[in-house]
Formats: sequence, C-alpha cells, structure tokens
Amino acid sequence: MDAKLIKAFNEQIKNEIFSAYMYLGMAAYFETINLPGFAKWMQVQTKEELGHAMKMYSFLNDVGAAVELHAIAKPAADYKSALDVMKKTLAHEKLVTAMIDNLYNLAQKLGDNAATIFLQWFVTEQVEEEKSASDVIALLDRIKPDSAQIVMLDVQMGKRGQ
Ligand code: MG
Repeated sequence: MDAKLIKAFNEQIKNEIFSAYMYLGMAAYFETINLPGFAKWMQVQTKEELGHAMKMYSFLNDVGAAVELHAIAKPAADYKSALDVMKKTLAHEKLVTAMIDNLYNLAQKLGDNAATIFLQWFVTEQVEEEKSASDVIALLDRIKPDSAQIVMLDVQMGKRGQ
C-alpha cells in the first residue's frame, strides 16, 4: 500500500479512537445530569467508534501495512445540556464524514481498489451516523430540557442496542 495512504489510515484510526473517547466523555456527562438512557446511548456509540478503529486496524494488517498508533487528545467535558451534546455530536460526525471522504478520495486517486472498496462501508456508515444524531436533535428541539418528556426520551435512548 502507498505510504501516504498508510499514514492517512493510521491518522483515521486515531480519529476513530478519539471519537470513542469523546463519546465516553459525553456518556460521563449524561451520568452527572441523571440521564442514564442518554449515557447508555453514548456508551454504545463509544463501542461503535472503537469498532471503526478496529476495522481499519485489521485492514492494515490484512494488506501487510504497519499500524502506527498516535496520541489521543483530551476530549471536551464542558457541556450545557443534552441538546448541546447532540449538536456537538452532529458537528463532530460531519467532520468525520469529511475525513472519510478525503481518505476515500486518496485511495481512489492512488488507484488502490481494495482500500477504495473497503472504505465504501465507512462512507455509508457516515450517512447513518449523521442521521442518528439529527434524529435525536429533532426530538430534543421539541421538548423542554427539564420536563417529564426528557425523562421519557431518556428511556427511549436507553433502548439502543449494542
Ligand atoms: Mg466513526
């Protein structure tokens, strides 16, 4: 595999693990404001992001490229509300979509068909990631932060499967 592409994959492994770390921080925030369902949703999201990193880790190993792990930054912890967290989730996923698009475009430019096809799953996954954050924002936009409705939404959020 081209050295530039290996470098870009290793960067993305770091970005996916950072996403996991950021969502774990959001889960911890939800615990502090007594929204255990939202916390659970974020824990599931954390595992998904680790799964994304591991898919790339396995792919690099499969094609005989070396995995190189980078330092993970400290994620933000200063959130104002559930809506604030979900808006930051959507903004982050849009950023990740741009990263995946860049990686995909690089693989295509280099004529690496295996990497291009492998990355198609991630392109599709990002559509899902943005949609799930948008769906929660749409619900939160319709309810008051400290109402009984958010408790009901919290129960729904806690039903997200692993
Ligand atoms: Mg991801």
